[in-house]
Amino acid sequence: MEMEKLVSLCRRRGFLFQSSEIYGGLNGFWDYGPLGVELKRNLKDAWWRDMVSAHDDLDTLAGAPSPYEMVGLDCTIIMHPQVWKNSGHHDLFVDEMVDCRESKKRYRYDQVLGRWASCDGKKSQGPPKQLSGPTFDVKGAEYDKIFVTSIGEEPESEIERRAMKHFKLRAKDADKLSWDGPAVTLDKINVADFDKTLGPDATGLGTLTEPRDFNLMFPTTIGALAGEEGRAFLRPETAQGIFVNFKNVIDSTRVRVPVGIAQVGKSFRNEITPRNFTFRSREFEQMEIEFFCHPDESRKWYEYWRNRRMAWWQEMGLAGDRLILRDHHADELSHYSTGTADIEYAFPFLPEGEYGELEGIAHRGDFDLRSHMEGKLDPNSCPLTVQLGEDGKPLHRGSGKDLTYRDEVTNERFTPHVIEPSAGADRGALAILCEAYTEDTAPDDKGKEQTRLSMKFHPRIAPIKAAVFPLVKKDGMPEVAKDLYRALKKKFPAFYDEKGAVGRRYRRQDEVGTPYCITVDGQTLDDKTVTLRDRDSLEQVRIRLDDAVEEIERRVTGD
Ligand code: ATP
Repeated sequence: MEMEKLVSLCRRRGFLFQSSEIYGGLNGFWDYGPLGVELKRNLKDAWWRDMVSAHDDLDTLAGAPSPYEMVGLDCTIIMHPQVWKNSGHHDLFVDEMVDCRESKKRYRYDQVLGRWASCDGKKSQGPPKQLSGPTFDVKGAEYDKIFVTSIGEEPESEIERRAMKHFKLRAKDADKLSWDGPAVTLDKINVADFDKTLGPDATGLGTLTEPRDFNLMFPTTIGALAGEEGRAFLRPETAQGIFVNFKNVIDSTRVRVPVGIAQVGKSFRNEITPRNFTFRSREFEQMEIEFFCHPDESRKWYEYWRNRRMAWWQEMGLAGDRLILRDHHADELSHYSTGTADIEYAFPFLPEGEYGELEGIAHRGDFDLRSHMEGKLDPNSCPLTVQLGEDGKPLHRGSGKDLTYRDEVTNERFTPHVIEPSAGADRGALAILCEAYTEDTAPDDKGKEQTRLSMKFHPRIAPIKAAVFPLVKKDGMPEVAKDLYRALKKKFPAFYDEKGAVGRRYRRQDEVGTPYCITVDGQTLDDKTVTLRDRDSLEQVRIRLDDAVEEIERRVTGD
């Protein structure tokens, strides 16, 4: 499937719009339209129901080491700034970026792809004088070999096109171009070679600055306090709200470890290069669980959540081989993690064989609770000497609160270990949209096979569950159909349509992924039956009008 087709369908049928579109849009921000909001809400509701409200805490679920409890939370987006110092986000939540002094664009260092190119002994001019910075004191230099870059959708062919243009070659002279090694990302070449680099949007060489750290948190100001005092951040993840409330939850409820605390909510990251539709947005929603357990049991719980979460995405309709569960290699693990697995989807905008993360399941040990207690970060990630803030107080001072847990039965006191399944609602919705998009053929009103576009959403996730049509707009059919429509709408989103040929009405519903269409026809008036048409099998069966609501409900919930 080509991504452009999906993007166009999403806009045309009201799944997704660019934020502030009438003002030209805002990069990295997306609005959900009337159908999109239902789709995403269904996904979040399914997650909440399956993980939290309908969770059976009395029994040991398949694969679980023991019964466990699940509760929810809804925390604020702006939190005490100290939260982010102790979580590590203040110092470590950075991407390295480079700026282009010519195009004024900013790129993620590890996303710029480039390749060394030369052309028949031709020399390339070094950076122009006005662009030479301290690192590029190379005025008047000439090079045989240059590093041509791109961040485009198909970077390799874009690199070739740009190299041809740079050396002023015509298509027939392509063989004059020679390449030295395969394409590599910018972070793999020496910064001293930046003067020989043609930036992704630059016309001259040496326009990229040295890489610099860029913190991804959005800063904001609380009240009228200027300077550091009023400075706060929009949360870059929902997880920290759970950690800092761990003690509140334990003390105010009767839940006992092992327990999972869940939260769904907005997170914000000032991504340098938002792209691939909603995949990398600057404002997005997360569905996160922090699962607290005894350190001795944590490995087993990690295995459990890894498998449970994979099975859940499959149940949501991502059942094909585009979904994979990938264990991180030891060198990919965060310094505090002893195990992380990603659930990944082969999004159509990624190159063949590449996958994008939908959810990460991480074994976080006791890192988070400890950091909020003691303010101590891992020695590998921050200097052991105490860093002082502008107020002269230690930057990483903890809350000083005791966040350990005492087991009432064994009387043992310990700092729980945490398993974190952290999923993205927007990436989930996007994967579901990609997976659902289907082009096949179906007979039209005259029985002729026509290509058909349908969104094969799982009935639980489909924005509209059923559509009701009177075959014709007379003989009392609309009245019967409207009554049925009203009865359905009391249970879930339904749609009433009496316009145009019935085949065209089916097509419209196929395109928005409605799994069931019910038609009221002449026979309905005689024997009180209606036809129920299935979007995927195209099968049409007659059912009793009085059973229709119950039948749709049964099919949607799978009960
Ligand atoms: P990536 O490496 O793709 O930036 P990440 O590893 O930083 O993602 P986490 O911090 O583990 O992501 O966040 C958990 C989940 O939140 C991700 O699996 C993803 O579904 C979602 N998520 C993270 N960043 C974004 C974003 N910029 N846009 C949309 N969803 C996001």
